[in-house]
Amino acid sequence: TEAAVQQVLRFEVDPGVARLPEPERAGILAAPGFGKHFTDHMVTATWTPAEGWHDARVHAYGPITLSPAAAVLHYAQEIFEGLKAYRHEDGSVWGFRPEANAARFARSARRLALPELPEELFLSSIEALVRTDVDWVPSGGESSLYLRPFMFASESFLGVRPAHEVTYCVIASPAGAYFSGGVSPVSIWLSTDYTRAAPGGTGAAKCGGNYAASLAPQQEAFAHGCEQVCFLDAAEQRWVEELGGMNLYFVHADGTLVTPELTGTILEGVTRSSILTLAGGLGLRTQERRVSVDEWRAGVASGEITEVFACGTAAVVTPLGRLAWEGGETVMGTEPGPVTMRVRQALLDIQHGRAADTHGWLRQL
Ligand code: PMP
Repeated sequence: TEAAVQQVLRFEVDPGVARLPEPERAGILAAPGFGKHFTDHMVTATWTPAEGWHDARVHAYGPITLSPAAAVLHYAQEIFEGLKAYRHEDGSVWGFRPEANAARFARSARRLALPELPEELFLSSIEALVRTDVDWVPSGGESSLYLRPFMFASESFLGVRPAHEVTYCVIASPAGAYFSGGVSPVSIWLSTDYTRAAPGGTGAAKCGGNYAASLAPQQEAFAHGCEQVCFLDAAEQRWVEELGGMNLYFVHADGTLVTPELTGTILEGVTRSSILTLAGGLGLRTQERRVSVDEWRAGVASGEITEVFACGTAAVVTPLGRLAWEGGETVMGTEPGPVTMRVRQALLDIQHGRAADTHGWLRQL
């Protein structure tokens, strides 16, 4: 009912939470790193079949008590999101397309048989946390407050079925520039022993299990001197899908940006989708289609592919310098390409309020 929804949408803020003293917070904000430090508060809400979403609160950041039989610990019924809040020059704080994250969170929930969180609740939870901990939003450069909403099966029950008690949380972590030493191209390992997602699987959902499964191939990448893994399709081991946590773009000599099409096995990135929209304004065409690893290698060799970059919320746009596989490698370049850097700057300028938000992507928090 309307009344129930209204009640859910009001996040009760616990007024008694101790805040980290300002000098210590300032010390963290001066060099936050990524995902290491957390703000004073967090959001939680609970769902049960009988009550729906209820008990929505902003309270002290701290450990969660769980039954050892909580279903998430056994069957990984869990989803998450990642988005950022940016402080603009005038001090105001803005989210970048949080509605897109809310929609993806709902799609992930359906795939993992979790209850959908209404978009208004997703947005108001973020707003409530950012407003409460607004002093934790860094200013300047490429820094931001990284927001991590997540939802998991908290019911104490060992049967394999969708949980009857689910917990939703949001935590927030200040983030500095992803590349402290300036943007430099990363090296990529082409995984042929492992795949990330199969047709009908969970590849298009942002669930913890996908990332657990990516750790062994990530170790393989490190062992081969590479920083990230590129996954191919499971059926043919031929089509380029994405990296462990970023989508891919190929820059062609004629000014076309090509990105692998959404097949149901890759994650639909908000950054990927934003670049598809931005490209026209930068004088670039776009194509969503299948890209084979052979096209990648041959295109770099012939000069048809001039740059390759990865994109995602955490690192924005990252140039790829080298693709290595068992027995060979293709070198794209040792310096970030001009198109990559133009796309990167265009996106950052909108997010940080330095360019007009002509697409209506910013939402004041
Ligand atoms: N692919 C995967 C597997 C990811 O984890 C992410 C990060 N969410 C992305 C792509 C990029 O998505 P976004 O641009 O929404 O951060």
